[in-house]
Amino acid sequence: MRIECIAIGTELLTTRRLDTNSVWLGERLARLGLGFYRKTAVGDTREDLAELFREALGRSELILATGGLGPTFDDFTKELFAEILGAELVEDAPSRADMVAFYAARNRIPPQVNFKQALIPVGAEPLRNPVGTAPGVWWEDPPGYPGVRIVLLPGVPREMKRMWEEQVEPRLRPLAGNARHTLRMVVAGVPESSLDERTREVRERHGHLDWTILASLTQVELLVRSDDTALLETVLADMKPVLGADLANIGDGNLEDAVLDQLQARGQTLAVAESMTGGLLSARLTAIPGASRSFLGGATVYSPAAKAALLGLPAAFLAEHGTVSEATTIALAEAARTVLGATWGLAVTGNAGPGAEGDAPVGTVFLAVAGPEGRVSIGRLIPGDRSDVQLRSAAAALDFLRRQIDRS
Ligand code: AMP
Ligand code: MG
Repeated sequence: MRIECIAIGTELLTTRRLDTNSVWLGERLARLGLGFYRKTAVGDTREDLAELFREALGRSELILATGGLGPTFDDFTKELFAEILGAELVEDAPSRADMVAFYAARNRIPPQVNFKQALIPVGAEPLRNPVGTAPGVWWEDPPGYPGVRIVLLPGVPREMKRMWEEQVEPRLRPLAGNARHTLRMVVAGVPESSLDERTREVRERHGHLDWTILASLTQVELLVRSDDTALLETVLADMKPVLGADLANIGDGNLEDAVLDQLQARGQTLAVAESMTGGLLSARLTAIPGASRSFLGGATVYSPAAKAALLGLPAAFLAEHGTVSEATTIALAEAARTVLGATWGLAVTGNAGPGAEGDAPVGTVFLAVAGPEGRVSIGRLIPGDRSDVQLRSAAAALDFLRRQIDRS
């Protein structure tokens, strides 16, 4: 089915608002085995909207539009569709009653301009709005376009989502294809291009499937989609030996989920000490619900004074080794582990720039893990600006720990 998305609102064309509706709707369609073949954002201008609506009617089987259903002068999505299709607008009594009740619950009566929201094109069905005042529209086989379906939903994400779930999805389900499943493999510590090369043979062996490689600052995702879950299992079995220890996670989770899962499976705990990542490491771990089962906490020891006061590193030690050094990082990992009585201590120090720090050039990063079997550390040079170096260092630290736990 050719499904087109139209996001309506001038604010979506500026930096004021992001069109998140179409992203959400795309995700929900995918669950039904459906998807957009195109999507457009358009401003609240009659001519531009009318042009787009005419084009969409000529090329799509399902038109899914959000926005422009409100009471104000710049809301005319319904009116324009009705005009183009030569349909009259009539008041829908239940929608009007909903609106009066909505206001009555707030001890108010609806302003006159609001009543235009209860107008529905003849031949269309209203979609009631349980959390706002603008009803939506479900319009099947509009005049002159048999086989076409038009769905109009409010722009307010909360209203749009609720109405989609309760009223649109049930109407679409009978038209859905086989639900498509996605196998997501998260790979850490491997650049995108070498991952491409390493996985080529397996991807070609399953060449009829739909593959994507998505790189970000901190990891690379390898995605493959099919409606055949057994086939996806085979792909995973073929991929595992190719990716080896670089395969950090499978499914929805990322690096931090992988680390927390490992710890939990072993009944172990973690403490961290971080300097130039400024708490990022702790933030990533604590963003996961249930992190408290294995993440004890940590210290952001940014200054030498903090390293001394919070984790007991002697000033003389810091003076001898420097704040950005392998020896200091190892000492911090060990101190975090000891102070909190954790199974593992993880530390990261470095220079995120912009200027050099002592003799550590920008991008210098040291990672250290202290564990039941001793300490390991590594020094790296990480590219990027300050925030890139911080994000990448936090990810590198999680990945370094993940590999140590894996080997233990
Ligand atoms: P409207 O239905 O056009 O009156 O939109 C109401 C509110 O929903 C506004 O605050 C918009 O910024 C927001 N909104 C509209 N369209 C979208 C969209 N595609 N994604 C996210 N928010 C939106
Ligand atoms: Mg609007």
